[in-house]
Amino acid sequence: MEHILIVEDEKEINSLLRQFLTEHGYLTTSAYNGLEALQLIQKDCYDLVLLDLMLPYKSGDQLLNELRQYSAVPVIIISAKDTIQAKIELLRIGADDYITKPFDLDETLARIESNVRRNRMNRDSEGPRILTYQDIQLNELNHIVEVAGHELALTAKEYGILELLMRHPEKIYSKSNLFQSIWNEEYMSEDNTLNVHISNIRNKLKAVSPDKHYIETVWGIGYRLYKLD
Ligand code: CA
Repeated sequence: MEHILIVEDEKEINSLLRQFLTEHGYLTTSAYNGLEALQLIQKDCYDLVLLDLMLPYKSGDQLLNELRQYSAVPVIIISAKDTIQAKIELLRIGADDYITKPFDLDETLARIESNVRRNRMNRDSEGPRILTYQDIQLNELNHIVEVAGHELALTAKEYGILELLMRHPEKIYSKSNLFQSIWNEEYMSEDNTLNVHISNIRNKLKAVSPDKHYIETVWGIGYRLYKLD
C-alpha cells in the first residue's frame, strides 16, 4: 500500500484529500505545518508528498529545499500560486509536479498515480542488487542472505525487514513505518509482532556472528542498523 503524506494547513482541504485518497486505497498521514511535515519525513518513508506552499512555521518551498538534500521522494505541489515563474522555481528546486488550487480531485489522483508509478519504475530499473552491511550480504534477486559466508534461514517477513534496513542503513525506521511497509496493515502500538520478528532476526544473526551488533533499537522511535565508524 502506498503511503502519502498530505501537508496542508487548511484542515478541511487536508481531510478532504485524506478521505479521498483513503477511499482509493492509499495509506495517508496528515501534517498541518512545515515543521511537523519535516519531522514526519525524517522519521518515516513516504511514497509521495502532497505539499501546500503557504504553511505555518516553514513554507512549502523551504521544506522542499531542505528535504531534497537527502530525499528523492516524489513531491507534488498544491498551491494557489499559478504563475509560470512560480511553477518553474518549484520544479527547479525539486518538485515533481504541480497542481493549482482550486484543484480537481480526479486530476490529483491521476497525477499521484503517475508519479508513484514513475518512481516505482525508476526504482525497479536500478535492478536487484547485493546489499552489504558488516559481514551480511543480502541478494535482492534470489533473497539469499549470508552472514560471514553462512546462509541464513529467514522467513519472508524477516527478510523484508532486514532488506528495508539494509537499503537505508542511516535511516531510523519507526515501528509503525516498518510494520506498515512489511505487513501492509495499520500498526497497533500494543502489537508485539514486529518486536518478535526483530528479535528472531537478531538471534539468527547472533548464532553465526555472536560478537557483532547489527540492529539497533532507537528508544522511543524504532530501529536502524548500527552506525559503522
Ligand atoms: Ca496553506
